[in-house]
Amino acid sequence: SREIHLVSRPQGMPANSDFKLVSQPVPVLNDGEVLVKNLWLSVDPYMRGRMVERASYIEPFALNEALSGGAVGEVVESRHPQFPVGSKVSSMNGWREYFTSTGSDLQLLPQTGIADQAFLSALGMTGMTAYTGLFKIAELEEGDRVFVSAASGAVGAMVCQIAKLKGCYVAGSVGSDEKARYLLDELGVDAVVNYKTTSDLHNSIAEACPEGIDVYFENVGGDHLEAVLNLMNDHGRIAVCGMIDQYNATSPQPGPVNLAQIIIKKLKIQGFIVFEHWDGYPAFVEQMLQWITAGQIRWKETVFEGIEQAPDAFIGLFNGQNLGKMLVKLT
Ligand code: NDP
Repeated sequence: SREIHLVSRPQGMPANSDFKLVSQPVPVLNDGEVLVKNLWLSVDPYMRGRMVERASYIEPFALNEALSGGAVGEVVESRHPQFPVGSKVSSMNGWREYFTSTGSDLQLLPQTGIADQAFLSALGMTGMTAYTGLFKIAELEEGDRVFVSAASGAVGAMVCQIAKLKGCYVAGSVGSDEKARYLLDELGVDAVVNYKTTSDLHNSIAEACPEGIDVYFENVGGDHLEAVLNLMNDHGRIAVCGMIDQYNATSPQPGPVNLAQIIIKKLKIQGFIVFEHWDGYPAFVEQMLQWITAGQIRWKETVFEGIEQAPDAFIGLFNGQNLGKMLVKLT
């Protein structure tokens, strides 16, 4: 069984040399345990924060141990009545090919007819983050003018579609023209800014949002936040989901110079961690299944094959190599 260890704490952009592929014997299961073969791994930007040794909302990854992260797998041996051989399960035991479990850290996937790996994207943490940020944090209302950064990514593309379903005007920013076309042509987004080719991010977002912004779904931070603060409408809400622009920074980054806009516009700005809202997961899944079944929510996957590719897939998140959800398919 192969697994990926973190062997050094990345400085700046993570490098392949920060990771090591290690072979171990397939673990032997005891009574009351199951042996799970992972089929799909999720790589996620938040993992970059766990590679740094510091106090945070979640403990740092240990060096020279298998990394962990979202995964979907299949029970291949079982001494546990609730998880017969063939059961599909999700867990946080990713970045390895096999693991044993007593079942306490496994969730059985419901039979939905939807591909298993959707529980790592639309029907999993990704969709739940978009839903929680929009409704619980930003208190989205019909007709709001919404702006989303990293709009073609896993979370961003969900945010765009959910806000459109709620009758909102939706604009977003992305790092390529291909991603812009996908949002405009396939997801019905109203306007898109390519932040890499514009010479003036503020003006481009202003043009994309001619009636200002009521809700900003923040995935990026940095100059995006500064530009958007100037363009927020009175009583606007900002759901601070992520700040990927800063995750590889090696020194503290300057904040926006225009924070007084928070007072002038009477803004509400709130960060959130989706795992603290997991009591809302069953209601979210019910709603998301309805949307998916009705053809109202769609998603793309960017897939790397083989566990040895997991570091490249992870690093690719910071280069914008993914359209939609970045996944690793185990072979
Ligand atoms: P994505 O699928 O959006 O992948 C990351 C994308 O971010 C890339 O494709 C890239 O797209 C964009 N990006 C990378 N670097 C930069 C940069 N310097 N400036 C602008 N854009 C950049 O990942 P997720 O959907 O999984 O996550 C999106 C955000 O949500 C992240 O910030 C993540 O940390 C956060 N998050 C927060 C959670 C929470 O509980 N608070 C839970 C899950 C995610 P492009 O080509 O457009 O640049």
